Amino acid sequence: MGKGLTDLFGRVHKDFRISVTDRCNFRCQYCMPEEGLDWLKREELLSFEEITRITKILVENYGINSVRLTGGEPTLRANLSDLISMLSKLPIEIALTTNGISLDKNAHNFRSAGLHRVNISIDSLKAERFKEITLRDDMKKVITGIEASIEAGLSPVKINVVVMRGINDDEIIEFAKFGRERGVIVRFIEFMPLDADEKWSTLSVVSLEEIFSTINSVYPLEVVKRSNAPASRFRYVDGQGEIGIVASVTQKFCDTCDRIRITADGQFRNCLFSNEEFDLKEALRSESSDKEICELLEMAVSAKREGHGIGNVDFIRPARSMSQIGG
Ligand code: SAM
Ligand code: SF4
Repeated sequence: MGKGLTDLFGRVHKDFRISVTDRCNFRCQYCMPEEGLDWLKREELLSFEEITRITKILVENYGINSVRLTGGEPTLRANLSDLISMLSKLPIEIALTTNGISLDKNAHNFRSAGLHRVNISIDSLKAERFKEITLRDDMKKVITGIEASIEAGLSPVKINVVVMRGINDDEIIEFAKFGRERGVIVRFIEFMPLDADEKWSTLSVVSLEEIFSTINSVYPLEVVKRSNAPASRFRYVDGQGEIGIVASVTQKFCDTCDRIRITADGQFRNCLFSNEEFDLKEALRSESSDKEICELLEMAVSAKREGHGIGNVDFIRPARSMSQIGG
């Protein structure tokens, strides 16, 4: 099945990230402007049928084997279980990235609909600090959501932590402990220049090297062989699980990146940091044939650059922030 969706540098794309909404009930300071954003209107969003059609084309023609539903906050999209169920008819692994706020209610429904795995974002284990970062007093609810996901069998449950200098870099060990005790994989993410308020600077980034050595000095780690996944993986020498570190800034993994994305309003992106989008919604709504959609996808992927260019003098931040692109 599938000849592979390959770019000019020989990277074969297998992982499709689908943003299902740009809306969010949090205001994480590294992602959204404090005052919020103008949300897309319903008719601007891709329908579940459109999302399923494009995924099916990618699976049947290019062997895409994994999709991740994201946003904005994907669980705000009404009837998300229906989309999961529609996608589950395809031979793919389905994952969800969420702020976890509704998983206490929804984890079992999502699992029954066909969801395989979940990544839950939580950037502080201190209630007050969590509130400052997200503008929501909901840390306990997110932790309940993590527990509900473990219970529902959405495994391995992973938690995403964006590490920011002077904000939460003093909690690295606490997070490691949390992961070891609960059997969840903590993914520490380097802060990327995708914040809406454009406060990012290299000084706010805590590097893979620093995260690794902080944890390694308390809980010794060893390297796990790397796949195409963005996280560098390390396991605890004492057998108490593993961590991931996503070093997009200090050790970019563009040479093995196998991701493609679609925004909630149907714009195809060949890179998180791309300044170019390809209008798949227009193609889907203008009765294009599958063959014509394949031509557009191949053109869009062949335009993928070799690397994201963060740190280069000519680097231009994408016009949209992370919540609008889909993390
Ligand atoms: N609302 C969901 C959530 O919070 O998990 C899904 C969307 S969110 C944009 C996806 C992931 O991107 C989250 O793990 C979030 O922490 C991460 N993220 C957002 N802005 C980021 C930034 N500037 N740098 C690094 N990661 C970021
Ligand atoms: Fe919302 Fe997720 Fe962005 Fe936080 S990281 S503002 S939860 S989209």
